[in-house]
Amino acid sequence: MTSAGARTTSLYESDIERVVVSEDEIRVKTAELGKQIAADYGEREPLLVGVLKGAVMFMADFARAVPLPTQLEFMAVSSYGASTSSSGVVRILKDLDSDIAGRHVLVVEDIIDSGLTLSWLCRNLAARNPASVEVVALLRKPDAIKVPVDVRYVGFDIPNEFVVGYGLDYNERYRDLPYVGLLKPSVYER
Ligand code: 5GP
Ligand code: MG
Ligand code: MG
Repeated sequence: MTSAGARTTSLYESDIERVVVSEDEIRVKTAELGKQIAADYGEREPLLVGVLKGAVMFMADFARAVPLPTQLEFMAVSSYGASTSSSGVVRILKDLDSDIAGRHVLVVEDIIDSGLTLSWLCRNLAARNPASVEVVALLRKPDAIKVPVDVRYVGFDIPNEFVVGYGLDYNERYRDLPYVGLLKPSVYER
């Protein structure tokens, strides 16, 4: 029997130029990050804040990779202006359900591109008097950073190219691809 993941992979195959981060690499790195965070946090229970929608796959796997009790919250934000690049002006589409005062907040992000969204988000969260705010991001594009963000935990540094899969979309597609891949330019040129 073919697994669902293998089937999704083959359905999208003709749209993907190459694999950037494989399923195995994601699994191994997520487990490493989970252990590192448990070691760093010790007795402090982190409150995970996943940024919708891109971080949803990473959030689900990461929460189970941290050998500590964690709680899950989600926020949805959107940048104003051109959809292809971040403007740094951010609007909250869905706010947290709970008060984070006194909590150890760990923001769970899919990817850091310019850093503008995350920089805004960290300032917004810090203003709510949490005990701490740290960030774990699965991916980072070092060549695209416009504003420095203090990201303590990063999965993979990747080239400055548009990737999809494992939560990341192009026009809401490919989020269900089990790995991170480079989209063929012919897909967005058509
Ligand atoms: P930033 O504010 O750091 O420029 O943008 C961050 C957001 O833009 C990410 O959370 C993600 O939603 C989106 N983004 C940035 N780079 C990529 C990419 O290569 N592929 C996809 N699908 N989304 C991206
Ligand atoms: Mg994001
Ligand atoms: Mg998107």
